[in-house]
Amino acid sequence: MLDLSTAIRRALNEKQFQLYYQPHVALDSDRIAGAEALLRWPCCQSYMDPMQYIPLAESTGQIHAIDAWVFSQALTKLQIWRQRKNADQFLSINVSSKTINNDQALNELLDMAGQYPDACRLLVLEITETALLGGMDQAARRLQRLKGLGIRIALDDFGTGYSSLNYITQLPLQLLKLDRTFIQRVGHSSTDEAVIRLVLEMARAVGHQVIAEGVETQKQVSFLRRHGCPMGQGYFFHRPMPWEDLEQVIAENAARRSQKDGR
Ligand code: C2E
Ligand code: MG
Ligand code: MG
Repeated sequence: MLDLSTAIRRALNEKQFQLYYQPHVALDSDRIAGAEALLRWPCCQSYMDPMQYIPLAESTGQIHAIDAWVFSQALTKLQIWRQRKNADQFLSINVSSKTINNDQALNELLDMAGQYPDACRLLVLEITETALLGGMDQAARRLQRLKGLGIRIALDDFGTGYSSLNYITQLPLQLLKLDRTFIQRVGHSSTDEAVIRLVLEMARAVGHQVIAEGVETQKQVSFLRRHGCPMGQGYFFHRPMPWEDLEQVIAENAARRSQKDGR
């Protein structure tokens, strides 16, 4: 059997990777506000779990090529949306901290982004706390270069690591993605519910948006709505899906909403 890093190289060369997209839903209106692109690698009649190969790709440096491919795909899709005047959904992509912290890899992303200034305004980069391992100042400078092109930055899996309050004040963030471990405990743990309320309050105070991850039940949706969480993402709304399905889901969502508004 090929070793995994050889298989990744081959997958890149042979364009085996795909992206699925999972909608972000505005909780006050049910509008699809955007979607997250998630890597899919077809394998044995299914898909290989990204967590099985992304850590290896990070350690071999292959993640830079993967992230650059995802980035270019997102810009291409956003160009399509930009050409349609009524499309203003954003696309968010996951970018490894290894890419953010590597000069050459980051410059490659910045060069690509510079060619699509309009698309950048609808692009969100999801980073995790590990992007900050090189130090807060350095991370802030690097993220600021992306923000300078109009790209928004989201802190993914918020609440799982150290989640220092410094991140909120020192980094050029616009979005927090509240980790699904908190959402799962809604209805089961008053402590977790209190933490969610506090995160929402804090985000409101500093002007950050929040997306609740891994929303699976009506009870969770009701709780999040009641406490003013702006957006949710999870199987309750939609599973990750191919691009064509996302387009259809967005069109149906818009039609349903305009019917409801009597427009
Ligand atoms: P993530 O960025 O936090 O992505 C959310 C994960 O939660 C996705 O798993 C998604 O399929 C899953 N999910 C969404 N809704 C629900 C739900 O209601 N319940 C449950 N149980 N899970 C839900 P996935 O696609 O397996 O991705 C796992 C991780 O792999 C991602 O976590 C991200 O860290 C990484 N990843 C995925 N795509 C990429 C990529 O293109 N580039 C990089 N660098 N990392 C990626
Ligand atoms: Mg993510
Ligand atoms: Mg996440």
